[in-house]
Amino acid sequence: MRIVRFSAAGKTRYGVLEGHHVVEYSGTPFGPFKRGRRKFLLKQVVLLAPVVPSKIVAIGLNYRDHAEEVGMPIPDEPYIFFKPVSAIVGPEDSIILPPISTRVDYEGELAIVIKKRCRNAPASRAREYALGYTCLNDVTARDLQRKDGQPCRAKAFDTFAPIGPCIATDIEPNAVQIETYLNGECRQASNTKMFIFPVEDVIARVSQVMTLLPGDVISTGTPAGIGPMRSGDRVEVRIDGIGTLKNGVMSLP
Ligand code: MG
Repeated sequence: MRIVRFSAAGKTRYGVLEGHHVVEYSGTPFGPFKRGRRKFLLKQVVLLAPVVPSKIVAIGLNYRDHAEEVGMPIPDEPYIFFKPVSAIVGPEDSIILPPISTRVDYEGELAIVIKKRCRNAPASRAREYALGYTCLNDVTARDLQRKDGQPCRAKAFDTFAPIGPCIATDIEPNAVQIETYLNGECRQASNTKMFIFPVEDVIARVSQVMTLLPGDVISTGTPAGIGPMRSGDRVEVRIDGIGTLKNGVMSLP
């Protein structure tokens, strides 16, 4: 199932992708979720960020190829940080470059969407707490990250967390191809087989620290190939079985 949140005819709701259509569902995927009668053509709806989380937890270094790229040793536990929910935008929304940064990078990532309340999940059962998986662009003001020595400001600007287009519930998250394109040119191409910490370890480790709530998002880190974006660029994060998250980039006049 590929779950979306969308607006059509002045109303926002959840639905499920079926071919070129979105089938309306009642309720939410975190509780009663029932197929409705209405069906919309995909091109007649506006897809929104597929989830409204209480928090976004992100993993700092989780691909072997990216660790090599940045010359960092393989970590023995995941480095975690937050992105604020105010940074979320949906498919086709613009990433706004902040005037106080001179280098803003894309980071294509697979994100876990939590299905039910989760605390101290053992890795062996952690996958039961995942509703599904989506694409997230962990947009980063690289110059500010270096200057600050910690990621809070660099990762937190409004529009720095594009999410979508859907939550795929049936993929194998530790073995999918993940690619990022800048203006149609492939810049990141890897496979989640390269994860240092697979999805079940990530959920287990994060839930040792904090209670995860339905809808919470954990972004699992980016592969090699990070790089800057400029005003007018188009960036796409593609993951097999999920789809393509597309966003434009602009600076405000
Ligand atoms: Mg990242």
